[in-house]
Amino acid sequence: MSGSRKPRSGSATADVVVVGAGFAGLSAAERLVSTGRSVLVVEGRDRVGGRSLSGEVAGVRVDLGATWVSPRHTAVRDLARRVGCTTTGQFDQGGNVLWAAGKRRTYTGTIPTVSPAALVDMARMQRAVEKLVATIDVDAAWESPGAARLDAVSFGEWLDRKNALPGTRALMTIVSKVQWGCTPGDVSLLHALRYIRSAGGLAHMLDVEGGQQQDRFVETTQEIARRVAERLGDRVRLDTPVHRITQDEEGVSVRTASGEIRAAYAIVTAAPAHRAAIAFDPALPEQAEGLTRTWRMGVLSKAFVAYEKPFWRTDGYSGEALTDTGTVFITFDVSPAPGGPGVLMAFCDPRVFDGFSPEARRDRVVRQLADLYGPQARTPIDYLDHCWGAEPFAPGGPNPAVAPYATVSFGKALSEPHGRVHWAGSETAGEWAGSMNGAVLTGQRTAERVLTLLSGDVREGALR
Ligand SMILES: Cc1cc2nc3c(=O)[nH]c(=O)nc-3n(C[C@H](O)[C@H](O)[C@H](O)COP(=O)(O)OP(=O)(O)OC[C@H]3O[C@@H](n4cnc5c(N)ncnc54)[C@H](O)[C@@H]3O)c2cc1C
Repeated sequence: MSGSRKPRSGSATADVVVVGAGFAGLSAAERLVSTGRSVLVVEGRDRVGGRSLSGEVAGVRVDLGATWVSPRHTAVRDLARRVGCTTTGQFDQGGNVLWAAGKRRTYTGTIPTVSPAALVDMARMQRAVEKLVATIDVDAAWESPGAARLDAVSFGEWLDRKNALPGTRALMTIVSKVQWGCTPGDVSLLHALRYIRSAGGLAHMLDVEGGQQQDRFVETTQEIARRVAERLGDRVRLDTPVHRITQDEEGVSVRTASGEIRAAYAIVTAAPAHRAAIAFDPALPEQAEGLTRTWRMGVLSKAFVAYEKPFWRTDGYSGEALTDTGTVFITFDVSPAPGGPGVLMAFCDPRVFDGFSPEARRDRVVRQLADLYGPQARTPIDYLDHCWGAEPFAPGGPNPAVAPYATVSFGKALSEPHGRVHWAGSETAGEWAGSMNGAVLTGQRTAERVLTLLSGDVREGALR
């Protein structure tokens, strides 16, 4: 088992207490432990992995949360390799399907070709995005030239101002729903540009081969977290939400549901919105407090539909589809092998998904897959879905849906330490923010910072 399930009561001490057992928290703990420091990782959920979660459909392990890595995601790849997890290429052979304006078409490559005019417009808007992306300071987007202007409009308003054609808008809406869990009207242009810059540009963000969707993990991404936690042993405490962090000149006291932990430093990896559930004493400065109020999480849902065989491959399709209407807006083939079972992963819009009964959700997805891939899609052998917005603890994902003004007003507080409280987590990353790779890098980086502080701290020994 990964981590200790039973919350312990009473008090404990450590050099560092890490809040959250996602990729950032586990990476921070791993680094600290490797130098001989004592660490306790406290996780509010009954499992490790955070926004990585495994499920099973027709006997196949699938990723209900984070899935893909790019060849450039070297930090998470290294971590996976160290714990014996392996990658497999995302299947993308054959034609892709586009469902747009009530019509079904097929296309090849990343960008769908509806008409020459639509293609020209897509290229024009891509260039416009990349031009702005090049101006963004990846480590401090709020200090980029023209940051206030870029943060005063939503991504959607900017697309309007640029007179983006419907096809371009539809593609950008899909990008927005997958990246930030919201439509373009709900996310600041500056926030969108920051994440596109962090992801290595729009092409790298969208591509399969050579891009962010190139590979996935055979064992699933949560399995990487489980194996790291296994190595950390009883240093990881599950079912232990942190309610309060008090600090004085000598250390921090972290109050959880089951007792208090005294440490020299705390590393908090909760997403900005989830920091709000922790009371800080002394209170967070105004900007850091504002961050927790305004950086709300986006929401995204995923469904997996299994068939005897990946029949779409025989029909010449890759299993990749884009749609501009309905519940499902993207599909991918995540079948384990050509012989079957065949598994289609569908990203679903929570607004037309989460509120329905499990049966109705399944029905909506299966009907849409039949529109995309034909009548064989009507007879699945298994089905599974997950609504990230409905998670009971730390809900939401994949990333924050940050509205206009909140990046310039509060972004600086993302990683500015609050005394002995240091921040890590995917959102605090410069390069690769919004990914597992970013989370791993921030965990390791923050651990290094705290190690430096500990080595200069004359009182450190007293807290072991
Ligand atoms: C549907 C979906 C698809 C995604 N797809 C991809 C993908 O393909 N590739 C990719 O790289 N990334 C993807 N991501 C994003 C990726 O999952 C995250 O960027 C990354 O996992 C974040 O790791 P983290 O450690 O920073 O945060 P988290 O994983 O959120 O970990 C933070 C932990 O802190 C815990 N916590 C919060 N508050 C408290 C508290 N008060 N007390 C104790 N514990 C607390 C939470 O329960 C959580 O476990 C996806 C995410 C989702 C949801």
